[in-house]
Amino acid sequence: MTPQGEDFSAWYNELVAKAQLVDRGPAKGTMVIRPYGYRLWELLQGELDRRIKDTGHENAYFPLLIPESYLRREAEHVEGFSPELAVVTHAGGKELEEPLIVRPTSETIIGEMMAKWVSSHRDLPLLLNQWANVVRWELRPRMFLRTTEFLWQEGHTAHADEADAMRETMLALDLYTEVARDIAALPVVPGEKTAGERFAGAVRTFTIEGMMRDGKALQAGTSHYMGTNFAKAFEIQYTSEAGRLELCHTTSWGMSTRMIGGVIMTHGDDKGLVLPPRLAPYQVVIVPIGRGEQGEQTLAAARDLAVRLKAVGVRAHVDDRPQLSPGFRFNDWELRGVPVRLELGPRDLESGSVVMVRRLGDEGKQTISLASAAEDMPAVLEAFQAFLLKRATDFRHAHTATVDTWDSFTEAVTSGWASALHCGEPACENDIKAKSAATPRCVPLDAARESGSCVHCGAPSAYGKRVIFGRSY
Ligand code: AMP
Repeated sequence: MTPQGEDFSAWYNELVAKAQLVDRGPAKGTMVIRPYGYRLWELLQGELDRRIKDTGHENAYFPLLIPESYLRREAEHVEGFSPELAVVTHAGGKELEEPLIVRPTSETIIGEMMAKWVSSHRDLPLLLNQWANVVRWELRPRMFLRTTEFLWQEGHTAHADEADAMRETMLALDLYTEVARDIAALPVVPGEKTAGERFAGAVRTFTIEGMMRDGKALQAGTSHYMGTNFAKAFEIQYTSEAGRLELCHTTSWGMSTRMIGGVIMTHGDDKGLVLPPRLAPYQVVIVPIGRGEQGEQTLAAARDLAVRLKAVGVRAHVDDRPQLSPGFRFNDWELRGVPVRLELGPRDLESGSVVMVRRLGDEGKQTISLASAAEDMPAVLEAFQAFLLKRATDFRHAHTATVDTWDSFTEAVTSGWASALHCGEPACENDIKAKSAATPRCVPLDAARESGSCVHCGAPSAYGKRVIFGRSY
């Protein structure tokens, strides 16, 4: 595999294939998600779905095909999405009277249904979520990060007023921050997008931004406050307690299979994937070693240990491939990012022990007791999870520079992020992008109040705080 330091992109592209996460689909930009990659997605999905339901949302499903006229009803929305649309013009052997759009996102069709389902203030808030595939015709596709078809969830909610809709927008952002941090071990920065980076049709867009190991930023989830834009376009209205007809305030928020790409690029190294235990399809792999009768004995002991690990809630797997050398199997599981490997040879079995090797950050091989290995493992995995989060957080801190001059800005964004004051003008953002390839990633929610002059043009700063700039995926 190409080393990260030599060519990060090549490393990524080779790794996703070698670790058997994905394969190329036949149509441009499409991806086949293989079982190992799909299991990762399922685990992430399960964690997010639980939190979505716990906060009062209900899952529903809306059609894949949307009449073209729906998208046209919200001017900014259609303008933003037009270049990325896949359109069905023929079906059943005939040209359709009205073309159908393969959904790039579902605000329009869900808005149409919300209008039907909401009539009184008692119907609000309406809290919906959909798990689905969407299609956006991407010009520079990349596995997981930007595919023409991707899997995601999209939350869509309707509220009586701005305050309630904004609470929802921030709640969704909090869910994403939590899942990224606590499950994927990604120390993301939650913040608001500047006007130029806003979702098509939104009044305010919030994001979580993660730093990858090449210093670039990845937008890992977004939450939008739509104001009454979609409510106006689709007549999502309700009668208030006072008997007046009012427009709803809506939100939408999405997290996609891109997150898997974020996990790969945040934790992976030259040996392969490094998976946080909470997302790892196999948290522990046991490799029995030995030939003939000895092999049978270690295999039986490995199976017994796997049963004990499963009983304490650990996803364990026995590598029963005696035809492959131990070294080959060790490398294989390192490539596939398994957090803990347990090597069980005849001598270990005799002495009632097993050799534990963590994927990263340990002091080499460690011999532990076979009898207590299962009950000790949850704590080992938790420690590994915490280690990954800390390592990524330290990396982000080390690669984020607070800068006040243009020279230090351009230097900072070659290897990481620049935290800088900015005037907030779109033209200035564009100049910065043209000169440095960096874009404003977000205005972090928790940044200290600060003002001064724009790092690029010198005009008075906007936002009352620093903005994070970086190159991005
Ligand atoms: P959006 O609806 O544009 O706010 O996107 C919602 C989420 O989907 C964000 O987290 C994006 O990072 C992610 N996303 C957008 N486009 C793609 C794509 N082509 N492939 C994978 N994920 C995407």
